[in-house]
Amino acid sequence: MAADDVPDLYPSEPRPVRLMNTIWADKGRVRDALTTVGQLDRWARQCGIQPTGPLGEEDLLRARELRDALRRLAATVVNDERPAAVDAGLAVDGALATLNGFTAPCAPELRREGEQEFRRDWRFGVDGFERELVALAVEAGELLSERPEVRLGACYGPGCVLYYYRSHARRGWCSAGCGNRARVARHYRRHASS
Ligand SMILES: [Zn+2]
Repeated sequence: MAADDVPDLYPSEPRPVRLMNTIWADKGRVRDALTTVGQLDRWARQCGIQPTGPLGEEDLLRARELRDALRRLAATVVNDERPAAVDAGLAVDGALATLNGFTAPCAPELRREGEQEFRRDWRFGVDGFERELVALAVEAGELLSERPEVRLGACYGPGCVLYYYRSHARRGWCSAGCGNRARVARHYRRHASS
């Protein structure tokens, strides 16, 4: 993989999940797809975020900060026990404070819609890429407060560290590939122990 390459994993996932999944695993090794400004730029474009100007190191730090907080919070709501999935040094309350810090500049705003109607919208107190991160943090808050047994899932495919949004109730894996690998692993375990 070239330095600024970012695997476009499961583009149908909601954006907060796609940010979480910039930590992924390949052949048993946990990888980080957000280590350079170039990777951040690639990732943003994959998610349909058109940067309004060149991204910098500060944007990268902010995106990583939000990503790590989201993974911590996702692990909490889905009771994730995969050891490689989350930075154990990050406390839940710290991650929550980070997320709430991101959403703080965002306020509900009522706008006129035609002569007689109003529409609830949001005002962002920041602009540029930071505004995109704030919007993403707001979306993440919605996602994390849905009933987790219905919505957010941790993939327990062998070696996998991804999260996914449960588009239907029985979905148990991030992908068909992980589902197959898990079935094969279960098959071998059964035969090894008999
Ligand atoms: Zn998986």
